[in-house]
Amino acid sequence: MEHKHEFNRRDFLKVSATGTAGAFVPLPVWKEKILSRKKEPVVVKRKLGKTGLELPVVSMGVMRSDSAALVKAALDMGIQHFDTAQGYQDGKNEIMLGEVFKAYPRSSFTVATKIHPQDVDRRTGVIGAGATKESILTSIDTSLQRLQMDFVDILYIHGVGTREVALHPPFLEALAILKQQGKIRFAGVSTHRNEPEVIGAVTESEVYDVVLTAFNFAQGHRDQIQEAIVLAAGKGIGIIAMKTMAGGFLDKERTKPVDCKAALKWVLLDPNVHTTIPGIVSFDQLIENFSIMENLGMTDEEKAHIEEGRLESCLYCDQCGRCIASCKRHLPVNEIMRAYMYAYGYRQYEQAYTLLKELGIPENACRECDHCTAICARGYDVAERMADITRLSSVPKDFLI
Ligand code: SF4
Ligand code: SF4
Repeated sequence: MEHKHEFNRRDFLKVSATGTAGAFVPLPVWKEKILSRKKEPVVVKRKLGKTGLELPVVSMGVMRSDSAALVKAALDMGIQHFDTAQGYQDGKNEIMLGEVFKAYPRSSFTVATKIHPQDVDRRTGVIGAGATKESILTSIDTSLQRLQMDFVDILYIHGVGTREVALHPPFLEALAILKQQGKIRFAGVSTHRNEPEVIGAVTESEVYDVVLTAFNFAQGHRDQIQEAIVLAAGKGIGIIAMKTMAGGFLDKERTKPVDCKAALKWVLLDPNVHTTIPGIVSFDQLIENFSIMENLGMTDEEKAHIEEGRLESCLYCDQCGRCIASCKRHLPVNEIMRAYMYAYGYRQYEQAYTLLKELGIPENACRECDHCTAICARGYDVAERMADITRLSSVPKDFLI
């Protein structure tokens, strides 16, 4: 469906500044900041591989935002691409975006959503009989209904961690059908585990157009990810980077914030990264992220911040899974560490709680161990982090919203 109403950035700001009745209404700080700019904002665009889409290098990860006003402001500033998923905020994230987007021409933005593959074991990657073509074909309609759209620009298979899942024939068949039906324009996978292997699989498939990969300065295996990105981009795969802020903070106490401008610029130093989806939850963050396009070069101070950040025991877990074999109960420590990052890095307790529940991790998961044998390849204190985050499982969910 084509949305009819159209207004540009200047009109929007003008209307917002004067108010409909002509009375003086104080402007929110973020609008004042935009209006006080002396020149039009600088927008740097890159081509998203063979898709032909040309997008600003800064897009919006909507996962943690429930603010329609923030999304409108992002559109108004010139952000074109918005990233959501069926599971974000129990579906409310897609619903909120649908309400916003219906007032804008469909050609003025692109939207990506994600579907978790059914019957794929999140711990082992083992594919069950329920991972069918039909599960993907029917699932997309839920997103289209919530988003109030006839199609999404990109559909990802969500959270792919193995080559086998990326190339599972029923999934590839379903994505090809959805393209033919016009329900999706482009297909991709999102990955934050075994990224080089998954990106390699995407590159050799004939179906995928885009990959959404974790990529940041703090990853221990960033060089291998970068090699895979270069090869994929060379074959025309559009590359979108996520988890660019490496958890947002270097410490649990949140005394050492990651400099978001430095972190984003580091990712975009690689010209094969076509756009990024930093999670944006405030107007200040929106303005700050957007402003990096004025100068993508890193200052000496920013370079030093990145170098120092690498030496810290940060909140970001590489998801390498090497700790699992040394855990007496073979718990999915990597996934639990992701919940730890959601809670302490993003203050996203509901997301952390939901992940723990999906994994079936109880409050006392480590109860039977008199000492912890799990060894982290990065030297994290697994026992301390496990004891800390699994407490969340016993909190009633109502308290987290
Ligand atoms: S204490 Fe360590 S070894 Fe024991 S279950 Fe927890 S993570 Fe695994
Ligand atoms: S906790 Fe350490 S070993 Fe385990 S997945 Fe994360 S980085 Fe790898």
